[in-house]
Amino acid sequence: MLSGYERGDFGRTRKVFLESLLGVDHLIRVRGSLNCIKFNKDRNEDLLSTSSRSQSPLRTETPVDMDGLSWPSIGTKQRLNETTEQKNERINKLSEAVKTILECIGEDAGREGLLRTPHRYAQALMFFSKGYEESIEQIVNDAIFEEDHDEMVIVKNIEVFSLCEHHLVPFTGKISIGYIPNRRVIGLSKIARIAEMFSRRLQVQERLTKQIAIALQEILKPQGVAVVMDASHLCMSMRGVQKPGSSTVTSVMLGVFREQAKTREEFLTLIRN
Ligand SMILES: [Zn+2]
Repeated sequence: MLSGYERGDFGRTRKVFLESLLGVDHLIRVRGSLNCIKFNKDRNEDLLSTSSRSQSPLRTETPVDMDGLSWPSIGTKQRLNETTEQKNERINKLSEAVKTILECIGEDAGREGLLRTPHRYAQALMFFSKGYEESIEQIVNDAIFEEDHDEMVIVKNIEVFSLCEHHLVPFTGKISIGYIPNRRVIGLSKIARIAEMFSRRLQVQERLTKQIAIALQEILKPQGVAVVMDASHLCMSMRGVQKPGSSTVTSVMLGVFREQAKTREEFLTLIRN
């Protein structure tokens, strides 16, 4: 199943492209030297809160808000700010709910093998959704540098694990992210961490792809951002149509990647190789 970007050259290269996405490695293409200038905290905050809303064609709400939470859900702040006591309370409540699930599927929640399962699952679920406790501001921190560099930068095949918000089962895959700076670059590991933050929330693949792209667009105000994700969904392979091995590709192209076929092609070629 393919959605999102399905125009022109992508159609011809799709097969090779899909095959190549299954490969590993991170490709980082940076031409020229990096003379990094660290912004101080105040300057950085200023960068994050600067608004450029009209630049994104896909923009529907504020992606990087004042707290840097990016599309926070109800309860995000509560989760972020809670005390250890409140955290334990939350885990206990969640464990009780898991116990109910075990009973509902016809299990004996009291049998030995399952005794600690509710607590274990509660903790695992908190980890699977830890993206709610992270913020763009925290992640980016001081890692934005002013740099006279305008060549494409790509971080390829970032492995992500997410939860489908319709079935609460995992979907996993790889994300490739590219951007062309406009005198502002970001630490490369931060790009992967941004992808991680958004994927550790309840998601649909289309939105995940879009959120990463728009967040980078906001933070860096680059000439363009390209994000492609190839993932397989357990809700498709374990239930429903039961088509193991099928994958879903989504992509979001902003700025020059959207406007110029050549740039788009260069990106797609580079993530293929
Ligand atoms: Zn699903």
